[in-house]
Amino acid sequence: MHSKSSSKQQFVLALDQGTTSSRAILFDQRGQVCAIAQKEFPQYFPKPGWVEHDAQEIWNTQLEVARQVMTTHGVTPEQVVAIGITNQRETTVIWDRHTGQPVSRAIVWQDRRTADICEQLKANGVADYLREATGLMADSYFSGTKVKWLLDHHPELRRRADAGELAFGTIDSWLVFKLTEGRVHATDVSNASRTLLFNIHELQWDRQLCRALDVPIEMLPEVRASNAFFGTTSLLGGEIPIHGVAGDQQAALFGQACLHSGMAKNTYGTGCFLLMHTGHKPVPSQHGLLTTVAWSLNGQVSYALEGSVFIAGAAIQWLRDGLRLIDEARDSEYFAAKVPDSQGVYVVPAFTGLGTPYWDPHARGAIFGLSRGTDKNHVIRATLESIAYRTTDVLETMQQDAGIELSALRVDGGAATNDFLMQFQADMLQTRVERPAVTETTALGAAMLAATGKGWLPVESLAQNWQLARAFHPQMDPQERHARYTGWQDAVRRTMGAIGTPK
Ligand code: ADP
Repeated sequence: MHSKSSSKQQFVLALDQGTTSSRAILFDQRGQVCAIAQKEFPQYFPKPGWVEHDAQEIWNTQLEVARQVMTTHGVTPEQVVAIGITNQRETTVIWDRHTGQPVSRAIVWQDRRTADICEQLKANGVADYLREATGLMADSYFSGTKVKWLLDHHPELRRRADAGELAFGTIDSWLVFKLTEGRVHATDVSNASRTLLFNIHELQWDRQLCRALDVPIEMLPEVRASNAFFGTTSLLGGEIPIHGVAGDQQAALFGQACLHSGMAKNTYGTGCFLLMHTGHKPVPSQHGLLTTVAWSLNGQVSYALEGSVFIAGAAIQWLRDGLRLIDEARDSEYFAAKVPDSQGVYVVPAFTGLGTPYWDPHARGAIFGLSRGTDKNHVIRATLESIAYRTTDVLETMQQDAGIELSALRVDGGAATNDFLMQFQADMLQTRVERPAVTETTALGAAMLAATGKGWLPVESLAQNWQLARAFHPQMDPQERHARYTGWQDAVRRTMGAIGTPK
């Protein structure tokens, strides 16, 4: 991986701008990782519930790793066919169009400061329209209320925004602006669909929502297809076109080659991020899932349903750091395999409440079914099982909402390396679980968008390039599966509702 490249070999360069680090990855035409550079950048927590980034630090680290990955691998700009960008979604940057300087810190997706604005939107009766038009909900997570907050709290910024001096963008848009040295102010449909300002049916900025959030429409970037041409950069030693942009979760869905309705991916990290391709029309959810644009390729838009599980790998961290039952996350597999089953033990890790489809912020974690014979192995096994159960909850909901049957689940993220967990997942879903050879699916997705946009690869080649490392087939008897999953749902019900706190 560290050998110098031959001067004829060609690559696509993925810029993967994440929440804690900026990465640059070179991929070859078969979608194999050839070189990686990565750099972390600071997180700012000025008040409880606030999370900020310095957009200039994001840009500096991103440019640095892009240059570094090319230099260390001996790649010239002529060898880079195109750049693809994928990014932490929803994080909000406002900058001066003329100087290219951010006017404040970026407000990160995790930041909760706009909760009151969301309450106002609900009180003003905008929430229903917002859900219909954007597929999202009135929540601080998304960009729109963050823009409003910045303009409301800085009258000077509002004046300059009204005068057309300021530009808004999510991180993709900010990077495109910097890479093109201010020539292009654009975003792609997947990122636009996370702002609360974009109408996912009409595929354009929604004037009614811009008014409701007091955001001047002139601040917003031009919206392009995910594999459109986004301009050229000359900052990497020569001219390189930018030809692909998508938010990180959508890029991962693309990188997993989930190109058809019914295909889904799950990223098992600290939490789980699930996306299911639902075809070419948006599907509304009855259970609080998000309807989102997956991507648009050459004029054709794909949509997805999105759901998440707050606590997944974090439950394994809790076994390690809280209960000290294991030394390392991967030891969980060894202990789980020491017992034939969890002996009726259910661990419900509702540490921060429960999301889809239960939506109970007051729920708290619990362990059920303890008996005199319960030992550490059962608790560890039941904790791993809980990750698969929660994923099943979300995927069952998606299938119901979309009226589409899941064809296969493709997996990535740290905990997807756990074979026990993946087998149990296949058993609970009664569907094949597929783990790819290349687990850098987010960066791969951005690279493949750029490769198809530039015409270096046809879209169909994605499915051929996607390589299976291991498939897990359902093995559990359906009756047993039913009994176990029913037991889980029963355990979850018992954790719901607030438990009285001692005075
Ligand atoms: P993130 O991007 O959210 O930091 P990662 O994809 O790096 O997450 O995955 C790390 C998470 O996965 C941690 O929460 C860790 O506990 C969990 N994890 C890592 N390896 C394993 C494993 N072999 N079995 C179970 N959980 C694991």
